[in-house]
Amino acid sequence: MIKQFAMVLLLGLAIGGCTGSEEALEEGQLIEGEGKADRLECSGIRPPDSSGFEKRVAITLDDGPKAQTTPLILDVLKAFDIRVTFFVVGRMAATEDGRQIAKRAVKEGHLLGNHSFAHPNMAGLKSAQLARELLDTDQLIREIIQGARQEISSATLLALAPNASDEEKEAALQDALSDIQTEPRFFRFPGGNSSCAAAKYVRSQGYAVTGWNFGPFDYCYNAGNGVCKGKRADQIQPARLRKDMIALTLRQAKQADGGILLLHDSKNYTAKTLRLLITTLLADGFSFVNLDDESTFPRLNGIIPPFVGDACDSDAICAFGFEDEEGSCLRYKAPVSDASPEVEQEIFGHCSLSCEGRCPDQIFSAPTFCASLDKGLTGNCLSLSDEANDYCAGLPGTKAAKVARHLGKSSASKKKAVVCKPVDLAPTIVSD
Ligand SMILES: [Zn+2]
Repeated sequence: MIKQFAMVLLLGLAIGGCTGSEEALEEGQLIEGEGKADRLECSGIRPPDSSGFEKRVAITLDDGPKAQTTPLILDVLKAFDIRVTFFVVGRMAATEDGRQIAKRAVKEGHLLGNHSFAHPNMAGLKSAQLARELLDTDQLIREIIQGARQEISSATLLALAPNASDEEKEAALQDALSDIQTEPRFFRFPGGNSSCAAAKYVRSQGYAVTGWNFGPFDYCYNAGNGVCKGKRADQIQPARLRKDMIALTLRQAKQADGGILLLHDSKNYTAKTLRLLITTLLADGFSFVNLDDESTFPRLNGIIPPFVGDACDSDAICAFGFEDEEGSCLRYKAPVSDASPEVEQEIFGHCSLSCEGRCPDQIFSAPTFCASLDKGLTGNCLSLSDEANDYCAGLPGTKAAKVARHLGKSSASKKKAVVCKPVDLAPTIVSD
């Protein structure tokens, strides 16, 4: 799984985004160099869900709407009955054509995502500019959604018999609008260029930062009329794929087992090849979902399963898998209170994995660290002392303590870190 994890990282690394994105690439290199997903919550590229897709793919299309290409793409999607997410650029959606096309997308059941107003590198923006980029586009998308819903409502009521009851009207409206977007929830940084502060701001506005799991550099194939050349092409191996975007997409999709696919509805080549791309993926057993599919993208949709460092009182709560191992609940008693020694000691616990060298991280959770609680015999994944666990105050029975990394047989380097360490674990640990 670590290998698979690293592969997805490399894939993320190799995928630049809409425009040149040196910052994003540097960010990816940092992640790779560390060998684990540190600061994952700050990345504009790496999505919070990275596995378990089971060949389900969510198509995302950036940088439109564009009159020459987006309607063709909508026609193809309609023919296959596939719903996608369009990450619209505000200034494109603000034109009369843009509004109409975006409205059509909403009426046909697609989602509009926010991709900023002018497509700048948002990692470098001052907070006021950042807010404008996000909020101006947010306002525009809300207007478009509102317009689409109104048109659907009017058409639905018109189609009813003139003597329809209020209940019948209500039921018909509910039915017609049930799969139509109500508000924008997904944000994508232009080029994937994010910073911790920018990502935090985006989330504070109710948006999920939405990176991607794979993408075939469609902008590069578009520029070369089907042949990707130049700097980007160097990243495509084997070289024969540089003139076969569909084969590259299939290869990436297989490597990632599905997930979020990044394309651009603003590109002619994408519009021209989308039908073949979809039939190729379908023929290989892939299926299509949208970003709001909670079973495929639980973390993106705010459903955070328990993970290392989360409080638990039984192993069942920690039944997540990593490598070939199931999480388990590391249990310990609170220290005896001097004030009331007669009170029975409370049992606490947090989810853990045994480890050598490294532990996995999860977005929105405190980063983890492989430490030994039995003087170097075995390793346990513990939470680092972090804002996410209120610097260990959120894990009663633990205390922030500096410990050395448990290396085991791993090749990880020696390192020390401040973790939330169960207090006086050895004599009080309770096994299930
Ligand atoms: Zn873009």
